[in-house]
Order: sequence, then C-alpha cells, then structure tokens
Amino acid sequence: MGKVYLTGAGPGDIELLTLKAYRLVQEADVIVYDRLANPDILKEAKDGCEFIYVGKADSHHSLPQDEINDLLYNLALKYKVVVRLKGGDPLVFGRGGEEAIYLHEKGIEFEFIPGITSAIAVPEYAGIPVTHRGITVSFRVVTGHEAPDKEESQIPWQNFKSDDTIVFLMGLHNLDKITKKLIEVGKPKDFPIAVISKGTTKDEKTVIGTLEDIWQKAKDLPTPALIVVGEVVKLKEQLNWFNR
Ligand code: SAH
Repeated sequence: MGKVYLTGAGPGDIELLTLKAYRLVQEADVIVYDRLANPDILKEAKDGCEFIYVGKADSHHSLPQDEINDLLYNLALKYKVVVRLKGGDPLVFGRGGEEAIYLHEKGIEFEFIPGITSAIAVPEYAGIPVTHRGITVSFRVVTGHEAPDKEESQIPWQNFKSDDTIVFLMGLHNLDKITKKLIEVGKPKDFPIAVISKGTTKDEKTVIGTLEDIWQKAKDLPTPALIVVGEVVKLKEQLNWFNR
C-alpha cells in the first residue's frame, strides 16, 4: 500500500515550494492537484508520473470532496507515492484535514507537507506585513466564503473591532457585504483595506482603498484574490518591493 502526501504547493511563485514538497513531487507516482497549485510544478515530476486535476477553486469544485477522498484512497492502493498538491498550505482552508481523516479511517498512511500560505505570503509580496511592531500584535485568517448577512454566522464579527490585521480568503465575491459588516461592527469607514489578486505571480495586482470605496475599485479583479484589512496596509507605500 502507498502513502498519501498532503502537500502545500505555496501561493504561486514556484520558488516558494519547500524542499520537501519539491522532493516528493520528483518521487511521485501520481499527483492530484488543484487549480491553485502552480502547474509549472508538475514539470518537475519524473517520467511516467500520472497527473489528475480535481479543479476546486473557491466554491467551484469540479470534483466533490467525497469523490476526491475516494480517489486518493484508490490511488494509494495502486501507487507507492501519492502526492496531493494544494495551493498554499494544505490545512489553511484546504480541506487537507478531511482528506487525512478519511485516509486514516481507511487504514492508509499519510503525511502533511506544510506549504507557504497565501494568507501571509501574498500580502508580503505586496508590501503588507501581517504584523508590525507598534501597529498590530496579531492577525486573523478568516473565510470570506460565508455570506456576512447569514443569520447564524460562525464568524465572530463583533471581535473584529480590535486592531488585528484581518485576512479574508475566498472573499472577493462577498467584498461588498464584508466591508459593510465591518463598518456595522464599528470600524471607521475610512479604515484601510487592500485586495490582492494573483499574488506572488507576474500578474499580481493590488488595489488599496477604504472600507467604503474598495468594492467599487476592486470588484472586477481576477481571482484568486484575498482581502487584507488593517493599518498595516499603509506600509505598502514603503514596502512595495515586488512590483518595484
Ligand atoms: N490553502 C490555501 C488557501 C485556500 S482558500 C493557502 O494556504 O493559501 C483559496 C483562497 O486563497 C482564494 O480564494 C484566495 O483568497 C486565496 N489565494 C490563494 N492563492 C492566492 C494568490 N496567489 N493570490 C491571492 N489570493 C490567493
């Protein structure tokens, strides 16, 4: 029986792949990958390696999760090294935990290979640090997928009055509702916010604004995109190294 490596592919820039992920990609008999994993990584695989695309970006799953689970199980019966390649880190809104539980229950061995998450690296390439001495002592990474006007939200919106940096993943289509909600819980209308599209790649685009005007400015940016809310956004002026 084979082993499944739940592997982080990093946020886009291929050089942000870890050495461990790189080694496993080279050893893989089969690679099961998402839309968010940089496809250039597949060029590093050995001859004869099988590639299986399972789509999955934001909510548009091209293969339902239970079918992905089952696929990984069946591949582990057939191959020795099964690499499940996911954008960023496999456990940051990556459903890597669900896949691992399924495999464990089926008696299949697995390993997690952490990846550099977009939540930190994408702002970093855009010149926005998620923490900065004197500005913020913490950051949160929140799903933006849940509509903020949902009646029984799992998201503790009331806590967002604090000075945490907040990074929303999967939130572009809810940008309007997210900013309204943040104003509703007490953040100033002119509070700084950034939307970063295709971060860490040559197509990276960042739009800066306020909670009030960002939606107009950023709603048409291409995905993947994430949202950063916090005073740290202002540091971009000095720290914008990647686009320079
Ligand atoms: N496991 C991934 C996140 C999966 S959720 C990680 O750790 O990075 C998918 C969301 O991540 C997207 O909707 C988007 O908000 C964000 N994302 C991933 N790659 C990105 C990129 N290159 N630029 C901007 N946002 C990105």
